[in-house]
Amino acid sequence: MTTNQDAVLDTVIIGGGQSGLALGYWLARQHREFLILDENERAGESWRQRWDSLRLFTPAKYDGLPGAPFPGDPLNFPTKDELADYLEDYVRRFDLPWTPGVRVDGLASDGDGFLVSAGEKSWRSKNVVIATGGYRVPKRPAFATELEAGIVQLHSQDYRNPAQLRPGPVLVVGLGNSGAEIAVEVSRSHQTTVAGKPGGELPVRHGRAAARFVLPVVRFLGLHVLTLNTPIGRKVAPEFTSKAAPLIRTRTKELRAAGIEVLPRVSGVRDGLPVLDGGQVVECANVIWCTGYRDDYSWIHVPALDQDGGLLQKRGVVDAVPGFFFLGQEFLFAAVSATLPGVGRDARYLASRIPVPHVTSARASASL
Ligand code: FAD
Repeated sequence: MTTNQDAVLDTVIIGGGQSGLALGYWLARQHREFLILDENERAGESWRQRWDSLRLFTPAKYDGLPGAPFPGDPLNFPTKDELADYLEDYVRRFDLPWTPGVRVDGLASDGDGFLVSAGEKSWRSKNVVIATGGYRVPKRPAFATELEAGIVQLHSQDYRNPAQLRPGPVLVVGLGNSGAEIAVEVSRSHQTTVAGKPGGELPVRHGRAAARFVLPVVRFLGLHVLTLNTPIGRKVAPEFTSKAAPLIRTRTKELRAAGIEVLPRVSGVRDGLPVLDGGQVVECANVIWCTGYRDDYSWIHVPALDQDGGLLQKRGVVDAVPGFFFLGQEFLFAAVSATLPGVGRDARYLASRIPVPHVTSARASASL
């Protein structure tokens, strides 16, 4: 194995999406020596790779990262490519040390720091931050493999547009925001049903008026009320990671208007076709699994996870492993922690908790 630098870095951030960039902004303000490692060639790729028609549900006024408001009409809902371009520009604007093409595949303790490895390359660092995003490995039920071979199966991660589908009915499995939005899109060209139960929905129509009058209240609740510092926040936190999020833009009313029938959950496969709770078999030519994601931290070899894979962290800080941190995960501190409106604040807090090397400590504490 080759070591890129003999010197021990101050901090390595693994993952250069919006979370890694927001933290990079605060570390740069402290004049700290750090690297952001990302497997992609360009910043913003996790957004670019999502389906073609995706627009953010958060208005531009809440989509900016620290130090750089999102440009244009504040009530506009940017496209996923506009957000990706904004992130790429953010790296340039603040001259962040974003290192492309590095897929980190190992992380271990190294004396009083960490050894971060990616194939033949490695880095030594005093501090490490995991900012690899919560939407990593697509989840789909084990019985998906029993569907007949002629059915086109896609996970929402691989869905781009309806041209990927065969002629014939589509069953969308999972009624979160991805399921609802993809169902409406494919219903324009295919007979579509969606199976699942939403975890609630926004009580008003999503759009510019909501961005002006309602989303500020939602943001306030997500940022200041539903946090790990409040009893109500601690009560709802586990549900955020286990249940589907409330429907925001495409609610059951919009599904009905598009002629989409909402079915019970899919519970298995019979004779190659999906079966619902209650036993109904669904004739379909396509299945789109909008069944969420799971993390993959199998490459992390420090005791920062419990037996069930839960993160042993408090507001991103892993007390059991000094110098080890998480950022951007669901409900890290608040309901908005894994979203654009929340990550800047969490990043700023983390930057204040990452131990400062002696040489830069005076300047660093002055800049936060
Ligand atoms: P990511 O964007 O996933 O970035 C993580 C980066 O780390 C990626 O570049 C990844 O390739 C890289 N990486 C991962 N593992 C490694 C490794 N081992 N080595 C090197 N690099 C690695 N939020 C909003 O605020 N508003 C919205 O409208 C909104 N819409 C969403 C729509 C969809 C369909 C989804 C899935 C999420 C949406 N979110 C939204 C939630 C959230 O803002 C995004 O998921 C966002 O991409 C999270 O940013 P992140 O930096 O935490 O993770």
